[in-house]
Amino acid sequence: VPERTFGHIEGIPEGSLFASRAELSAKGLHRPLQAGISGAGEEGADSIVLSGGYEDDQDYGEQVIYTGHGGRDPNSGKQIADQRFIAGNKALALNKAHGLPVRVIRGSELESQYAPDEGYRYDGLYYVDDFWSAVGDSGYTAWRYRLVKESDARVPARETPAEREDRRPKRVESTVLRLVRDTKQSRQVKHLYDYTCQFCGTRLVTPVGAYAEGAHIRPLGEPHNGPDSSGNLLCLCPNHHVLFDLGAISVNDDLTLVGISGRLTVHPQHKLNADHLTYHREHYPDSPAGSSAQ
Ligand SMILES: [Zn+2]
Repeated sequence: VPERTFGHIEGIPEGSLFASRAELSAKGLHRPLQAGISGAGEEGADSIVLSGGYEDDQDYGEQVIYTGHGGRDPNSGKQIADQRFIAGNKALALNKAHGLPVRVIRGSELESQYAPDEGYRYDGLYYVDDFWSAVGDSGYTAWRYRLVKESDARVPARETPAEREDRRPKRVESTVLRLVRDTKQSRQVKHLYDYTCQFCGTRLVTPVGAYAEGAHIRPLGEPHNGPDSSGNLLCLCPNHHVLFDLGAISVNDDLTLVGISGRLTVHPQHKLNADHLTYHREHYPDSPAGSSAQ
Protein backbone atom coordinates (compact mmCIF):
# COMPACT_ATOMS: atom_id res chain seq x y z
CA VAL A 1 0.00 0.00 0.00
CA PRO A 2 1.51 3.36 -0.98
CA GLU A 3 2.04 5.82 1.84
CA ARG A 4 -0.82 8.25 2.39
CA THR A 5 -0.05 11.68 0.94
CA PHE A 6 -1.58 14.72 2.62
CA GLY A 7 -1.74 17.72 0.32
CA HIS A 8 -1.55 18.16 -3.43
CA ILE A 9 -0.38 15.32 -5.66
CA GLU A 10 2.63 16.45 -7.64
CA GLY A 11 1.79 17.38 -11.22
CA ILE A 12 -1.98 17.54 -10.68
CA PRO A 13 -3.18 21.14 -10.47
CA GLU A 14 -6.47 22.23 -8.94
CA GLY A 15 -9.25 22.11 -11.55
CA SER A 16 -7.92 18.95 -13.24
CA LEU A 17 -10.65 16.74 -14.72
CA PHE A 18 -10.89 12.95 -14.59
CA ALA A 19 -13.19 10.55 -16.43
CA SER A 20 -13.68 7.95 -13.72
CA ARG A 21 -13.01 6.80 -10.16
CA ALA A 22 -10.49 4.36 -11.63
CA GLU A 23 -8.53 7.25 -13.10
CA LEU A 24 -8.66 9.17 -9.79
CA SER A 25 -7.31 6.09 -8.07
CA ALA A 26 -4.55 5.43 -10.60
CA LYS A 27 -3.31 9.03 -10.32
CA GLY A 28 -3.17 8.72 -6.51
CA LEU A 29 -5.67 11.52 -6.04
CA HIS A 30 -8.27 9.30 -4.33
CA ARG A 31 -7.27 5.66 -4.01
CA PRO A 32 -10.45 3.83 -2.92
CA LEU A 33 -12.68 2.93 -5.88
CA GLN A 34 -15.99 3.19 -4.00
CA ALA A 35 -15.57 4.77 -0.55
CA GLY A 36 -16.14 8.52 -0.38
CA ILE A 37 -13.49 9.00 2.28
CA SER A 38 -9.88 7.87 1.87
CA GLY A 39 -8.45 7.65 5.34
CA ALA A 40 -7.75 5.65 8.46
CA GLY A 41 -8.81 6.42 12.00
CA GLU A 42 -5.23 6.61 13.24
CA GLU A 43 -3.80 8.61 10.31
CA GLY A 44 -6.39 11.09 9.11
CA ALA A 45 -8.17 11.46 5.77
CA ASP A 46 -6.18 12.44 2.68
CA SER A 47 -9.06 12.81 0.21
CA ILE A 48 -12.83 12.75 -0.20
CA VAL A 49 -15.12 12.51 -3.22
CA LEU A 50 -18.36 14.51 -3.17
CA SER A 51 -20.75 12.74 -5.49
CA GLY A 52 -24.22 13.03 -4.03
CA GLY A 53 -25.71 10.44 -1.80
CA TYR A 54 -26.23 12.28 1.45
CA GLU A 55 -29.11 14.72 1.20
CA ASP A 56 -27.84 16.57 4.27
CA ASP A 57 -24.65 17.63 2.52
CA GLN A 58 -24.49 21.35 1.81
CA ASP A 59 -22.12 22.64 -0.83
CA TYR A 60 -21.24 26.35 -0.80
CA GLY A 61 -18.19 25.97 -2.98
CA GLU A 62 -15.42 27.20 -0.72
CA GLN A 63 -17.27 25.77 2.28
CA VAL A 64 -18.88 22.36 2.53
CA ILE A 65 -20.96 20.72 5.25
CA TYR A 66 -20.08 17.10 4.66
CA THR A 67 -21.73 14.00 6.12
CA GLY A 68 -19.61 11.04 7.17
CA HIS A 69 -20.19 7.54 5.90
CA GLY A 70 -22.00 4.42 7.07
CA GLY A 71 -25.48 3.54 8.26
CA ARG A 72 -27.13 3.64 4.87
CA ASP A 73 -29.10 0.99 3.05
CA PRO A 74 -27.01 0.24 -0.06
CA ASN A 75 -30.09 -0.11 -2.26
CA SER A 76 -32.36 2.73 -1.16
CA GLY A 77 -29.57 5.01 0.07
CA LYS A 78 -31.74 5.77 3.12
CA GLN A 79 -30.20 6.10 6.58
CA ILE A 80 -31.13 2.97 8.53
CA ALA A 81 -28.60 3.06 11.39
CA ASP A 82 -26.40 5.42 13.35
CA GLN A 83 -23.06 6.30 11.81
CA ARG A 84 -20.18 5.13 13.97
CA PHE A 85 -17.13 7.18 14.92
CA ILE A 86 -14.69 4.83 13.22
CA ALA A 87 -12.65 4.52 10.01
CA GLY A 88 -13.17 7.46 7.63
CA ASN A 89 -15.44 9.31 10.06
CA LYS A 90 -12.78 9.26 12.77
CA ALA A 91 -10.11 10.01 10.18
CA LEU A 92 -11.77 13.30 9.16
CA ALA A 93 -12.00 14.34 12.82
CA LEU A 94 -8.30 13.62 13.17
CA ASN A 95 -7.69 16.11 10.35
CA LYS A 96 -9.09 18.85 12.57
CA ALA A 97 -7.04 17.79 15.58
CA HIS A 98 -3.81 17.74 13.58
CA GLY A 99 -4.47 20.44 11.00
CA LEU A 100 -4.18 18.03 8.08
CA PRO A 101 -5.54 19.09 4.66
CA VAL A 102 -7.93 16.88 2.70
CA ARG A 103 -8.14 16.83 -1.11
CA VAL A 104 -11.69 17.49 -2.29
CA ILE A 105 -12.96 16.01 -5.56
CA ARG A 106 -16.42 16.77 -6.93
CA GLY A 107 -18.31 14.34 -9.16
CA SER A 108 -20.92 15.20 -11.78
CA GLU A 109 -23.60 13.28 -9.84
CA LEU A 110 -23.36 15.77 -6.99
CA GLU A 111 -26.51 17.89 -6.77
CA SER A 112 -24.72 21.17 -6.50
CA GLN A 113 -23.99 24.32 -8.47
CA TYR A 114 -20.36 23.38 -8.07
CA ALA A 115 -20.52 19.92 -9.62
CA PRO A 116 -18.58 19.43 -12.86
CA ASP A 117 -20.63 18.74 -16.00
CA GLU A 118 -19.10 15.30 -16.37
CA GLY A 119 -16.64 13.04 -14.62
CA TYR A 120 -14.69 14.29 -11.61
CA ARG A 121 -12.84 17.52 -10.85
CA TYR A 122 -10.07 18.10 -8.29
CA ASP A 123 -11.02 21.20 -6.30
CA GLY A 124 -7.93 21.57 -4.14
CA LEU A 125 -7.27 21.35 -0.40
CA TYR A 126 -9.75 21.95 2.40
CA TYR A 127 -9.28 21.99 6.17
CA VAL A 128 -11.69 20.43 8.62
CA ASP A 129 -12.83 23.46 10.59
CA ASP A 130 -15.26 21.62 12.86
CA PHE A 131 -16.96 18.26 13.40
CA TRP A 132 -20.02 17.21 15.37
CA SER A 133 -22.73 14.57 15.47
CA ALA A 134 -26.37 15.34 14.71
CA VAL A 135 -29.60 13.38 14.42
CA GLY A 136 -30.90 13.74 10.87
CA ASP A 137 -34.46 13.62 9.50
CA SER A 138 -34.16 9.83 9.51
CA GLY A 139 -33.82 9.80 13.29
CA TYR A 140 -30.32 8.36 13.11
CA THR A 141 -27.07 9.97 14.16
CA ALA A 142 -24.68 11.19 11.47
CA TRP A 143 -21.22 12.70 11.72
CA ARG A 144 -20.86 16.07 10.08
CA TYR A 145 -17.85 18.14 9.12
CA ARG A 146 -17.36 21.72 8.06
CA LEU A 147 -14.69 21.90 5.38
CA VAL A 148 -13.11 25.22 4.47
CA LYS A 149 -11.04 25.74 1.36
CA GLU A 150 -7.37 26.45 1.95
CA SER A 151 -6.71 28.89 -0.87
CA ASP A 152 -8.63 31.91 -2.14
CA ALA A 153 -9.20 30.24 -5.51
CA ARG A 154 -12.94 30.07 -6.27
CA VAL A 155 -14.53 26.74 -7.13
CA PRO A 156 -16.09 26.90 -10.63
CA ALA A 157 -19.89 27.25 -10.45
CA ARG A 158 -22.80 26.79 -12.86
CA GLU A 159 -24.73 29.69 -11.38
CA THR A 160 -24.12 33.37 -12.16
CA PRO A 161 -21.88 35.40 -9.85
CA ALA A 162 -24.96 37.27 -8.50
CA GLU A 163 -26.84 34.06 -7.71
CA ARG A 164 -23.73 32.83 -6.09
CA GLU A 165 -23.36 35.83 -3.81
CA ASP A 166 -26.98 35.35 -2.67
CA ARG A 167 -26.33 31.80 -1.60
CA ARG A 168 -22.96 32.39 -0.05
CA PRO A 169 -23.01 31.78 3.72
CA LYS A 170 -22.08 34.77 5.82
CA ARG A 171 -18.51 34.68 6.84
CA VAL A 172 -18.32 33.63 10.44
CA GLU A 173 -15.42 33.85 12.79
CA SER A 174 -13.64 30.54 12.76
CA THR A 175 -13.99 28.44 15.86
CA VAL A 176 -10.37 27.44 15.44
CA LEU A 177 -8.29 29.75 17.56
CA ARG A 178 -4.97 28.33 16.55
CA LEU A 179 -4.39 25.55 14.12
CA VAL A 180 -1.05 23.81 14.27
CA ARG A 181 -0.55 22.11 10.94
CA ASP A 182 1.28 18.82 11.03
CA THR A 183 4.21 17.97 8.81
CA LYS A 184 5.47 14.45 8.18
CA GLN A 185 8.42 15.15 10.48
CA SER A 186 6.30 16.54 13.30
CA ARG A 187 4.00 13.53 13.11
CA GLN A 188 7.01 11.26 13.57
CA VAL A 189 8.39 13.21 16.54
CA LYS A 190 4.99 13.26 18.26
CA HIS A 191 4.68 9.54 17.68
CA LEU A 192 8.16 8.96 19.16
CA TYR A 193 7.05 10.64 22.40
CA ASP A 194 3.57 9.08 22.33
CA TYR A 195 2.15 12.64 22.41
CA THR A 196 3.76 13.42 25.78
CA CYS A 197 5.09 16.95 26.37
CA GLN A 198 8.89 17.05 26.61
CA PHE A 199 8.66 19.94 29.08
CA CYS A 200 6.02 18.79 31.56
CA GLY A 201 5.11 15.17 30.80
CA THR A 202 1.47 16.02 30.09
CA ARG A 203 -0.34 13.72 27.66
CA LEU A 204 -3.73 15.02 26.52
CA VAL A 205 -6.27 12.37 25.54
CA THR A 206 -9.23 13.23 23.28
CA PRO A 207 -11.93 11.21 21.46
CA VAL A 208 -9.72 11.29 18.35
CA GLY A 209 -6.66 10.08 20.21
CA ALA A 210 -3.82 11.70 22.10
CA TYR A 211 -3.00 15.30 21.22
CA ALA A 212 0.34 17.09 21.20
CA GLU A 213 1.96 19.66 18.95
CA GLY A 214 5.15 19.59 16.97
CA ALA A 215 7.11 22.75 17.86
CA HIS A 216 9.86 23.93 15.52
CA ILE A 217 12.74 25.20 17.66
CA ARG A 218 14.14 27.46 14.94
CA PRO A 219 10.98 28.64 13.13
CA LEU A 220 10.26 27.69 9.53
CA GLY A 221 10.24 30.40 6.89
CA GLU A 222 11.93 33.77 6.51
CA PRO A 223 13.99 35.06 8.14
CA HIS A 224 14.73 32.08 10.41
CA ASN A 225 14.63 29.32 7.79
CA GLY A 226 14.68 26.52 10.31
CA PRO A 227 14.50 23.04 8.79
CA ASP A 228 11.49 20.75 9.08
CA SER A 229 13.60 17.97 10.58
CA SER A 230 13.39 15.98 13.80
CA GLY A 231 16.56 17.70 15.10
CA ASN A 232 14.61 20.96 15.02
CA LEU A 233 11.37 19.68 16.55
CA LEU A 234 9.97 19.21 20.02
CA CYS A 235 6.81 17.38 21.07
CA LEU A 236 4.95 19.78 23.36
CA CYS A 237 1.58 20.31 25.00
CA PRO A 238 -0.29 23.38 23.63
CA ASN A 239 0.55 25.55 26.67
CA HIS A 240 4.25 24.90 26.48
CA HIS A 241 4.22 25.27 22.69
CA VAL A 242 2.79 28.79 23.03
CA LEU A 243 5.21 29.71 25.81
CA PHE A 244 8.13 28.37 23.77
CA ASP A 245 7.08 30.16 20.55
CA LEU A 246 6.72 33.45 22.44
CA GLY A 247 10.11 33.06 24.07
CA ALA A 248 8.85 32.65 27.63
CA ILE A 249 10.72 29.39 27.98
CA SER A 250 13.85 28.04 26.38
CA VAL A 251 16.29 25.15 26.65
CA ASN A 252 19.97 25.27 27.65
CA ASP A 253 22.56 23.10 25.91
CA ASP A 254 22.64 20.82 28.98
CA LEU A 255 18.84 20.44 28.51
CA THR A 256 17.93 22.32 31.68
CA LEU A 257 15.01 24.65 31.06
CA VAL A 258 15.03 28.43 31.05
CA GLY A 259 11.87 30.14 32.32
CA ILE A 260 10.56 27.12 34.19
CA SER A 261 12.29 24.62 36.40
CA GLY A 262 13.17 21.18 35.20
CA ARG A 263 14.88 19.47 32.34
CA LEU A 264 13.89 18.61 28.79
CA THR A 265 12.95 14.95 28.35
CA VAL A 266 14.71 13.58 25.27
CA HIS A 267 14.10 10.16 23.76
CA PRO A 268 17.32 8.18 22.99
CA GLN A 269 16.35 8.07 19.29
CA HIS A 270 15.76 11.81 19.09
CA LYS A 271 18.91 13.62 17.92
CA LEU A 272 18.28 17.23 18.82
CA ASN A 273 20.45 19.83 17.11
CA ALA A 274 21.99 22.07 19.80
CA ASP A 275 22.54 24.88 17.26
CA HIS A 276 18.78 25.32 17.00
CA LEU A 277 18.41 25.48 20.79
CA THR A 278 21.09 28.19 20.83
CA TYR A 279 19.31 30.04 18.03
CA HIS A 280 16.05 29.98 19.99
CA ARG A 281 17.71 31.30 23.18
CA GLU A 282 19.44 34.09 21.25
CA HIS A 283 16.41 35.23 19.25
CA TYR A 284 13.79 35.60 21.94
CA PRO A 285 13.53 37.86 24.95
CA ASP A 286 14.59 36.47 28.30
CA SER A 287 11.82 34.85 30.22
CA PRO A 288 9.86 37.29 32.42
CA ALA A 289 10.10 34.69 35.18
CA GLY A 290 13.87 34.95 34.90
CA SER A 291 14.27 31.62 36.62
CA SER A 292 17.07 30.36 34.43
CA ALA A 293 18.09 27.01 35.82
CA GLN A 294 21.85 27.43 35.83
ZN1 LIG B 1 3.80 20.80 28.62
